[in-house]
Amino acid sequence: MSRKTGAIETRLIHAGEPRIGGAVGMPIFQSSTYLNAGTGNYHDLRYIRLNNTPNHLALHEKLAALENAEAALVTASGMGAITTTLLTLLSAGDHLLAQDCLYGGTHDFITKDLPPLGITVDFIDGEDSSGWVAKLRATTKCIYVESISNPLLQVADLKAVTAFAREHGLVSLIDNTFASPINFRPLEHGFDLSLHSCTKYLNGHDDLVAGAVLGRSELVERVKHKLDHLGATLDPHACFLLHRGIKTLAVRMRQQSETAQRLAEFLERHPAVIRVNYPGLPSHPSHRRTRELFDGFSAMLSFDLKGGAAAAERLFGRLTLPIVAPSLGGVETLITRPAITSHAGLTAGERHALGISDGLVRVSVGIENTGDLIQDFEQALRE
Ligand code: PLP
Repeated sequence: MSRKTGAIETRLIHAGEPRIGGAVGMPIFQSSTYLNAGTGNYHDLRYIRLNNTPNHLALHEKLAALENAEAALVTASGMGAITTTLLTLLSAGDHLLAQDCLYGGTHDFITKDLPPLGITVDFIDGEDSSGWVAKLRATTKCIYVESISNPLLQVADLKAVTAFAREHGLVSLIDNTFASPINFRPLEHGFDLSLHSCTKYLNGHDDLVAGAVLGRSELVERVKHKLDHLGATLDPHACFLLHRGIKTLAVRMRQQSETAQRLAEFLERHPAVIRVNYPGLPSHPSHRRTRELFDGFSAMLSFDLKGGAAAAERLFGRLTLPIVAPSLGGVETLITRPAITSHAGLTAGERHALGISDGLVRVSVGIENTGDLIQDFEQALRE
């Protein structure tokens, strides 16, 4: 069996392992420049900013193998991957269709930074494809969605997105951070490029910032050329940490998802809770679609408490295990109120329209013992 085939658990461990010098663990190549005989192509010079040190190359191979991509590119952050990709594919006069409930940083970039460059955007409801064609223009070049929305954990009509892109000649882009390659591999479903904040599940230890772009070689190469110029390059030490973190993705995600399912079920039964958003619950509007398209429900959930924001703050003060902090995907359980963190950039009206209340609590479930976590929530929610 090749290192690039086999189940994802095997690819996580064995793909992108060049065993340089016989090393089992991928070493750190702390060198900015490399011997060069002169190929004549600037982008092929062996230089750290050109994303081609041994650490970059090994990581590209590993990341590509996870989603069966032809090629992958690692970047200095998730935002580095998203902004570089959009700036590669869109120029002045172009138009973008984007899902209406995106990660705040992405939403800000496309609404505040793209328009001064002459690039316009219209938002679409990811759930309802009937309205998309009305938003289409002759200048529309790309359609952009997320695999699981934040913080309500909705899964858009992803099949309709790729069909729509094919029909209208658009490049389809998806931020697959929340699902991770364990649960969803967008390229297998017809997406052109899959983007990640590797800061989250792929690394999994809340100790670095990184991003990635996965897809067809020709598209990834174009993004690499832009990245070579913009300079959002991941340094070799962070490459090493990410490479190491990725290997345990499958076992982490399995444990985190199992606990998320049990915690969601516990919260749904609890009298202090109004509503739980977790795609693994049959009550969640995206449950059937997630079952059909994904291999698992991931480990993010959110819920509303009867007492609103005050009850949420009381809960935060009483919990002993979850850490009150933004971000997600690490081994520690993190808890936050999106209204004052990830979605603070939206107006109260915009949040309300999206269904994000001031008291909504979002949990990124870690790998602590399931019983310990549930017990902690039980004591913290007690009257
Ligand atoms: N995409 C999603 C879904 C995110 O949640 C985040 C950050 O929270 C990003 C992208 C940006 O990633 P980074 O912080 O690595 O730049």
